[in-house]
Amino acid sequence: MERIFSKPNIVISKCLNFDNCRYNWDKINDDFLLKLWKYVNYIPVCPEVEIWLWTPRMPLRLHLDDKENTRLYQPSSKTDFTEKMKKFSIDFLSKTENTDGFIMKNRSPSCGIWDVKVYNKIDSHVSTQRSWSGIFWDEIRQEYRWYPTEDEWRLKNFRIREDFLSKIFCLADFKELQDIKALIDFQAKNKYLFMAYNQNTQKELWRIIASYNKDNFDEIYSEYKDWLITLFSTRNSTKKLSNAYMHIFWYFKESCTKEEKEFFLESLDMFKDDRIPNSSVINMLKIWALRDKNDYIINQTILNPFPKELIELSNSWKSLKL
Ligand code: SF4
Repeated sequence: MERIFSKPNIVISKCLNFDNCRYNWDKINDDFLLKLWKYVNYIPVCPEVEIWLWTPRMPLRLHLDDKENTRLYQPSSKTDFTEKMKKFSIDFLSKTENTDGFIMKNRSPSCGIWDVKVYNKIDSHVSTQRSWSGIFWDEIRQEYRWYPTEDEWRLKNFRIREDFLSKIFCLADFKELQDIKALIDFQAKNKYLFMAYNQNTQKELWRIIASYNKDNFDEIYSEYKDWLITLFSTRNSTKKLSNAYMHIFWYFKESCTKEEKEFFLESLDMFKDDRIPNSSVINMLKIWALRDKNDYIINQTILNPFPKELIELSNSWKSLKL
């Protein structure tokens, strides 16, 4: 059965495809984020423009103060914008709800989620060795720390991208649930996807559902959501995905020939070693599920984690740490 995807709400740095709001009047054109636009509700924001730093502007940078806190500073005007940026971030947070994920501009002193350059002192030319985040994101993460968050550069790696997409489309579905029946159905459909993140947390989610007593749905929903976000605070891996695929494969152990089994196990090993894509393994399991008319498996979200139009195998940054 074709999965109908709810649209996730994604906060995105405005200079990613939306507006020429970078300090030099530039914007980043990113093909994947453009393609994703059709399937998500983007919430674009440029924090620097929001604090009245018009485009074009002289660049900002981060430096450490005496207490090792990061400060947002514009050397050309000798102005510190840290407090203004923090205030805007808190205002933004108060108006933002139902967000499923974040795509931020890589290495920006405002939006960057990590890898932002920070200078040792206000007038130093020497940067620290540590990885820092931008001031806007620093505030946002107080509330959204464990939500799916990536930058446009990391999303060029298809493993990171698939992980991010699987999470945001799952969270968007979760928001639509209105009653316990829908929640049970959601848990059942996501069983193997959750297993690919953390088996223990997946069991904890069942425990929460089991504590339902007719009039505590809101309470259960809220507790379940917290655990779901915790589950998604980790990344899946080819090893964890393979384990989940192996569990699904057991449904077909009687109906598959010896040769099919051998071929599947060999393919799974190749997938674990990053020699074939996720979609190859998924398609094998899907074909067997369709042949055996196994609706339970056909409806598993791990076999259909995001719109198929978004499947891409281009990977322009293979050296990324997962
Ligand atoms: S990185 Fe953030 S602050 Fe900088 S231009 Fe882009 S949206 Fe604006």
